[in-house]
Amino acid sequence: MLPGLVSYSSSSSSDEDEAEDQAGLVYSGRPGPVEARRDVGMNPPQAARPLERLARRAGTARELQGRHPAGGRLPLPESVRSMFADEDEKPDDAEDGSQHGGRLRSFAHERGNWATYVYLPYSGDSDFDELVDLVLRRLCDVGLRMSKQEDFHISLSQTVVLRYHWINLFLQTLRERLGSYHRFNCFTNKVKVYTNQERTRTFLGLEATRGQQDLLGLVTEIDGAMQEFQLQTFFKDTSFHMSLAWCVGDLSDRFNQDLINQLQDVVDEFEDSPRLLRIHAEQLVCKTGHKLHPVPLRDT
Ligand code: AMP
Repeated sequence: MLPGLVSYSSSSSSDEDEAEDQAGLVYSGRPGPVEARRDVGMNPPQAARPLERLARRAGTARELQGRHPAGGRLPLPESVRSMFADEDEKPDDAEDGSQHGGRLRSFAHERGNWATYVYLPYSGDSDFDELVDLVLRRLCDVGLRMSKQEDFHISLSQTVVLRYHWINLFLQTLRERLGSYHRFNCFTNKVKVYTNQERTRTFLGLEATRGQQDLLGLVTEIDGAMQEFQLQTFFKDTSFHMSLAWCVGDLSDRFNQDLINQLQDVVDEFEDSPRLLRIHAEQLVCKTGHKLHPVPLRDT
């Protein structure tokens, strides 16, 4: 497990695990068979796996969920409903974007809905912190104040809404699809500015310049899982990056080419930046609400 990656946040309780165990939906750790080739990425391909089959194998999944993602509400036995009553009440991500590296929910909170996304984590050391501080200082020099990201990562999915009772099955699907993908290295060093889709936030990021094919291979599988659950897939014109800082509003036009070049110089000239900006992808994280679920990649 990566340093700093914990499975449960303080808001999680062991009750959740108990509920999951009772439901028989805990990941078995068994990788799924390879059924079809995919062109993207250097890793072994994984097969598309119909949700129906997964649900059958998970046994009571549909009854526990009470709603098939394709539509149609199924009756939920009272005994099962009470088993999960506490879980449905649990809040997912707080509304305050400042607590979440600028991520703001663009959908209304609804009981039992969990904001979910998949990413490749990066735990930078104090040298990396110093590099980010230098970048932020250069921005301050030109009157741009941005907040440092709380955690650093490369997003591999959009933030989607998952019903609580689909979480385990979704994690199982992800782990099956991604479990045979080998670990790899990528490199993020190209300064680039992003805005969220609503253009209410601006992000300063470092775009990946190596490892994009591997990242694309992962996204293909994650998108496949999203589609099985009828959830939104990732950007078509994906630009893999690690956000360093964010601010409110669309300030992208303040970043002219001269400023981008200056920031790029800060990054390029920073001692040891090739080591600092190399990310070893050994496991992904699926975050649901406040809870972090590891999704390991293959060791050998
Ligand atoms: P992240 O740090 O991964 O949350 O990304 C910051 C923002 O970049 C997100 O709000 C994305 O919507 C946005 N973004 C804009 N264009 C792209 C793109 N082509 N690929 C990935 N993310 C993008």
